[in-house]
Amino acid sequence: MYGGIEAGGTKFVCAVADEKLQIIEKVSFPTEAPEKTLQQVIDFFKKYPIKSLGIGSFGPIGINPQNENYGYVLATPKKGWTDFNFLGTLKKIFDIPMVWTTDVNAAAYGELKKGAAQGKDSCIYLTVGTGIGAGVVMNQEIFQGIAHPEMGHIRVKRLLEDTYEGTCPYHKDCLEGLAAGPSLFARTKIKGEDLAEDHPIWKMQANYIAQALMNYTLTLAPEKIVLGGGVMNQDHLLHKIRQAFIEEMAGYMETPDVDEYIVRWGLPNESGIIGSLMLAKDALTKK
Ligand code: ADP
Ligand code: ZN
Repeated sequence: MYGGIEAGGTKFVCAVADEKLQIIEKVSFPTEAPEKTLQQVIDFFKKYPIKSLGIGSFGPIGINPQNENYGYVLATPKKGWTDFNFLGTLKKIFDIPMVWTTDVNAAAYGELKKGAAQGKDSCIYLTVGTGIGAGVVMNQEIFQGIAHPEMGHIRVKRLLEDTYEGTCPYHKDCLEGLAAGPSLFARTKIKGEDLAEDHPIWKMQANYIAQALMNYTLTLAPEKIVLGGGVMNQDHLLHKIRQAFIEEMAGYMETPDVDEYIVRWGLPNESGIIGSLMLAKDALTKK
């Protein structure tokens, strides 16, 4: 049996699965103080004889095993979580192999193995929700260097008509600051889910996301880009992003047909937890 955790800033999802990765039980609870939330995690997994655990956590997180902050949550605006030893807390209780990565990396892995990027060797998974974050899989492995990539905080070119200062507490008008869910509300005073399809804001929203996808494409040239997150529930937005991507690229780089290249998640709301379970399985079978 394998365990998986999708640790989000809003909610935690924990699941156990059998050898074939069929989910046996899955629970979800709100993210509260770290000690309280981790106790709920521990109580859940103690019921099962899990052999390994995959964890995809909101970040930023320490992922370099050489550093003292490995396994920790780093500077997060989420109250109480900064410098919390997430992995260490679990290691104290469970003496099993664990895989520790970001929530979006786990989701990218899930999408590559079982979702919209199945059969590919590389993909980028981008979530547009309360924040913007991306995970990268290259050659079937999660990509990370000195840290995990932070692709939600890149710079995009501000549109001339855009006067909004941006919501990012660190950079104000980075991609996340200009185009995450809360910016829709900040600009229009209407929640993203209630905004009409023909509202002019969507053109701007699509342009910023398309600029980001162009930057990712020019930098990493993945085989597929998978989009998820609350804001992507807007059916029309995907089409607008594809159109803006074609315009921004201006024919410079050869990519697959945009309808094949930029797609929506294949495992809606489950990419992260499925990816975490797959990472747990890999920890035992891939040596
Ligand atoms: P989280 O990022 O916290 O995991 P979500 O991915 O659901 O959660 O993102 C929440 C954000 O997405 C909020 O800003 C919300 O207003 C926005 N959102 C949720 N549903 C929609 C929708 N159907 N259309 C546009 N925006 C949405
Ligand atoms: Zn930022």
